[in-house]
Amino acid sequence: MLQLSNDSSFDTAGGMETGNLRDMAELNLSRLITTAADTIAAHAEELTALDQAIGDGDHGLNMKRGFEAVRSEAEAFSAKPLPEALKAIGTKLVMTVGGASGPLFGTLFMALGKEISAAPDRANLTGAFGKAIEAVAARGKSQVGQKTMLDVLQPVHDALLQGRAPFEIADIADAAAEATVPMKALRGRASFLGDRSIGHMDAGARSTALLVRTVAKTVGESA
Ligand code: ADP
Ligand code: MG
Repeated sequence: MLQLSNDSSFDTAGGMETGNLRDMAELNLSRLITTAADTIAAHAEELTALDQAIGDGDHGLNMKRGFEAVRSEAEAFSAKPLPEALKAIGTKLVMTVGGASGPLFGTLFMALGKEISAAPDRANLTGAFGKAIEAVAARGKSQVGQKTMLDVLQPVHDALLQGRAPFEIADIADAAAEATVPMKALRGRASFLGDRSIGHMDAGARSTALLVRTVAKTVGESA
């Protein structure tokens, strides 16, 4: 049972095995936020370097600013029911990340919060994540194959649908970010470079994969 809460209470609706994330017994949202902010901070220079190659070099700083802002309110966010917490995180990211990625990551979390239930099982999480990806695509007027964060989000959704384990999903996300290297950018600043965007990893794809691994690891550890 997936129980994303800020305390140690378990979902007591036991016995509902079907379709539930038995490997996601409990997840501490506050700890997840802290780990995500740590991960983004540790990789800020790498993200900046990726964005320098085919963008304007602000992605590391943008993401770090946003996730530090979320970290500073981790306790307040994690005291809320999961849908409200995700919406609040999304709003905070829109306000603090900036660039093209701020509204897009913000949309991802806000839409996820709109669709997810307070104690989601795998089916609800997967459905909500699919809707959130659609919202990002609508906001960015973008689709898979254009060398953006969507090129990681979509394979992760597919992996969720296939019932993959958290560590497999993290590897799939990494491989998907890697797979943006030979793509030509058709959205965002990198698209201004045309063919010269080929041969570099998309910064937003990389940051998305980092966040996916953080969630997968946190979920895996709490199994
Ligand atoms: P900016 O491009 O404004 O400098 P960032 O550097 O923070 O903003 O973010 C760039 C990332 O945002 C890209 O690497 C890409 O993954 C993502 N991105 C940009 N535009 C779009 C879009 N239209 N749809 C989906 N993702 C996008
Ligand atoms: Mg940039």
